[in-house]
Amino acid sequence: MKKEDRETQYSDSKIYCNCCGQIICKKGCLKEDYLHVRKDWGYFSFKDLTGHAFNMCEACYDQMISNFKIPVEEFPIDEIPDYTDEELKALNEAYAIALGK
Ligand SMILES: [Zn+2]
Repeated sequence: MKKEDRETQYSDSKIYCNCCGQIICKKGCLKEDYLHVRKDWGYFSFKDLTGHAFNMCEACYDQMISNFKIPVEEFPIDEIPDYTDEELKALNEAYAIALGK
């Protein structure tokens, strides 16, 4: 990953997978869903008062959880997250393209 790519990791213009380095999405593009993790490490850790954050694409997530000794818990989700009108428009366009294939 180039230096300027890392600098935009947490901007709203591009989102990268920290694991494989691929662009997950650019601003206004909801190419795919992804995992975002933010952890504020507290006392009694070796990272006291340090924050960590990263993003992971679905393929890297699937690879990671395949190594778990205890499988992840799966549960149904009743509601989709709150999307802005712009995000909903992009989602609808993406679904229309996907269904057209
Ligand atoms: Zn990835």
